[in-house]
Amino acid sequence: MSVRWGLIGASTIAKQFMINAIRAQADGEVAAVMSSSAERAEAYARENNISVAVSTLDALLSEDIDAVYISTTNELHLEQGLAAIKAGKHVLCEKPLALTSANALKMVTAAKAAGIVFGTNHHLRNAGTHRAMREAIASGRIGKPIAARVFHSVFLPENLQGWRITKPEAGGGVVLDITVHDADTLRFVLGDDPVEISAFTQSAGMAGSGLEDGAMCLWRFKSGVIAQSHEGFTTKFAGTGFELHGSEGSLIATNVMTQKPIGSVLLRTADGEEELNFDREDLYTRSLRQFHAAIRGEGQPAATGDDGIWSLASAEAALQSAKTGKAVAIDPQLGSLA
Ligand code: NDP
Repeated sequence: MSVRWGLIGASTIAKQFMINAIRAQADGEVAAVMSSSAERAEAYARENNISVAVSTLDALLSEDIDAVYISTTNELHLEQGLAAIKAGKHVLCEKPLALTSANALKMVTAAKAAGIVFGTNHHLRNAGTHRAMREAIASGRIGKPIAARVFHSVFLPENLQGWRITKPEAGGGVVLDITVHDADTLRFVLGDDPVEISAFTQSAGMAGSGLEDGAMCLWRFKSGVIAQSHEGFTTKFAGTGFELHGSEGSLIATNVMTQKPIGSVLLRTADGEEELNFDREDLYTRSLRQFHAAIRGEGQPAATGDDGIWSLASAEAALQSAKTGKAVAIDPQLGSLA
């Protein structure tokens, strides 16, 4: 039996990655797309070979679909997610799940109560590089983890220089856009949760309306690991990377904070240097495969709703820290979900 998907949002990410990832599954079908404009819905459907185009959420949810992928602007995720859950559809939602972690918690709680599968589209967990690093740490190859550094400052491509840098009400800004991914990747690779964050943000010339387009964060994890992360929209030549330093070794990953299955991971220990091997499967295709398995009752999505709450709670704490000049505790309040 195939999984019939409805796309909520005629977005760039769906066009660039997710439609292909759904179609890469033997049992995946893109059944319908919804845009807030009938004209855009039709053009998008034509361009992407989707047979049904609609312009209201009710119309989409009345289609013969099993799951929805939500990739509208961030302020819409909550309402659309709650409606899809109410209609009994499985939900794969883009990050951030909502504009506040309290609202994300509402959505994830509703999904659990409805017994549907709910995932957050944190793609980086699906990268072979990050999974190889997680395995190396879990198997003790760097000894006791001590510190991490994440380099995730990019240049926002011109076609994406819209709501992200102009609309606070749509959840713009680099912290809700990229720091959420760094929170999730650090949690996944370290197998640890952050407890506290301190952040400086800046507006370096691209973002307006009081939005930040650069951030530097300092993190403390439960185990005592400390980390730093740099997120940005305005650096053209920085490149990306992820370093993890432990008592017996270091992992130096280059070009890995990206949507593509590229990059390298070097392990450096007393024995010398070794390039780690990893698979180069498309990140989003792997994410979809795991989501389809979860629908069949096999395991969970690569990143769950709880993971999405964690990353949003972390971003929220970073923004609060930047505003107050103080370190802020990260408290996703997952206890109330049990
Ligand atoms: P886009 O700006 O491409 O799309 C967002 C919405 O903007 C669409 O739903 C659409 O509304 C509207 N829109 C898009 N293009 C036009 C246009 N030419 N004219 C008018 N309206 C337009 O956003 P992204 O694809 O970059 O991001 C969407 C979501 O996905 C966000 O939540 C973002 O955080 C997330 N994201 C996640 C990534 C990941 O790797 N996990 C990567 C990139 C984004 P409508 O549907 O009503 O037509």
